[in-house]
Amino acid sequence: MDFKQYITIVEDYPKEGIRFKDITTLMQNGQVYKAAIQELGKYASELDVDVIVGPEARGFVVGCPLAVEMEKGFVPVRKAGKLPREVLSVDYGLEYGKDSLTIHKDSITKGQKVLITDDLLATGGTIEATIKMVEELGGVVVGIAFLIELSYLNGRDRLSQYNTFSLVTY
Ligand code: IMP
Repeated sequence: MDFKQYITIVEDYPKEGIRFKDITTLMQNGQVYKAAIQELGKYASELDVDVIVGPEARGFVVGCPLAVEMEKGFVPVRKAGKLPREVLSVDYGLEYGKDSLTIHKDSITKGQKVLITDDLLATGGTIEATIKMVEELGGVVVGIAFLIELSYLNGRDRLSQYNTFSLVTY
């Protein structure tokens, strides 16, 4: 299936010069959304996965249906202040300034094999921060799955020691 035709490119969003990849048009089409999740499921079926971890919010859009399909648990990574129990937190660099991501401390047990999901790989900063937290909790990252990879931002270089898959590349 040509998934690209269902992804809308929005010029100059959120600011001038950015060509934003909008996956909401893919998600609006039930058959295409399902097919995309199934393709990621094929990749994941080659791995030994115990649990799926995804950063908010679009990491949930990918990770939750995949987790249900695979009958695995899903662990959310969220911005600071959103998770109700004790968290591990990590700062990560944004284009301007810093932000932090959090994960429940008891959400991953030592040695658990983790598949990380997100909608899009840009510079890799979000996933790098997610990996750091998973590993600090003792998880082993066995794979990382994206719907979209922006290859010109070279995020993959930062993830070079991990098994990475993306459905479509720009
Ligand atoms: P990174 O941390 O630079 O790899 O940025 C990836 C994060 O930014 C992902 O969680 C995406 O949701 C978001 N993002 C960056 N660019 C786009 C885009 O063009 N479309 C949708 N999300 C984007």
